[in-house]
Amino acid sequence: MKKQLIAGNWKMNGSSVANETLLKALVAGMASATCQVAVCVPAPYLAQVQGLVAGTGIELGAQDVSQHEAGAFTGEVSAAMLRDFATRYCLVGHSERRQYHGETDVVVAVKALRALAAGITPIVCVGETLEEREAGRTEEVVKRQLAAVIHANGHCISEIVVAYEPVWAIGTGKTASPEEAQQVHAVLRAQLRAATAQAERVLILYGGSMNAANAAQLLSQQDIDGGLVGGASLKPTDFLTIIAAAN
Ligand code: PEP
Repeated sequence: MKKQLIAGNWKMNGSSVANETLLKALVAGMASATCQVAVCVPAPYLAQVQGLVAGTGIELGAQDVSQHEAGAFTGEVSAAMLRDFATRYCLVGHSERRQYHGETDVVVAVKALRALAAGITPIVCVGETLEEREAGRTEEVVKRQLAAVIHANGHCISEIVVAYEPVWAIGTGKTASPEEAQQVHAVLRAQLRAATAQAERVLILYGGSMNAANAAQLLSQQDIDGGLVGGASLKPTDFLTIIAAAN
């Protein structure tokens, strides 16, 4: 059976002191964890967190990567730079990047390509807005977003992780019900099956206000292979409860 993955997205939170306190609490509490665990940290803390997670079983993740390989792109961080810090995962296409930084499906697909080429697993985020859900367009939107990544990445597609994150559930305290989430995950799985014979090995995470109280039910759904956790990943007790609910 594939191991579920619980990935924390710290967003633009943290400090040297806070990171150390949080990671020490996680390491102390996750001795019996059976799932995979990762933390996606702000770029300036990659080196610090690389040191803190070494040998702990927690994998290092980044929150974004440049679509460019190298050169005159001030402020950007390349996939090769992330790899220099032994970064294992990188979020691409988080809804906050799509919304506030104008990232299109094509840009997200190229970012996934850059990550894969550097040996980093992209966690490709897809999800519909409330308006799109209410218009009955959820399936169309997530399929369009994933199709761009499949198109650009061809046979490597089984190497990605997908995160279904309904935009209306991110940071709002509203969660898709386990049944609603499973329905979308099944659509994404079917789309992956049409693209690769290895679709069953692709982890499809759920994200959007996953917390200590709702994690077990969400994680018990057939096509939910883990969680992408924002707010609750900053609270060690809550994050550890989510980790304990995964397998
Ligand atoms: C996220 O940022 O990916 C996320 C799911 O946030 P939250 O858990 O806070 O909704």
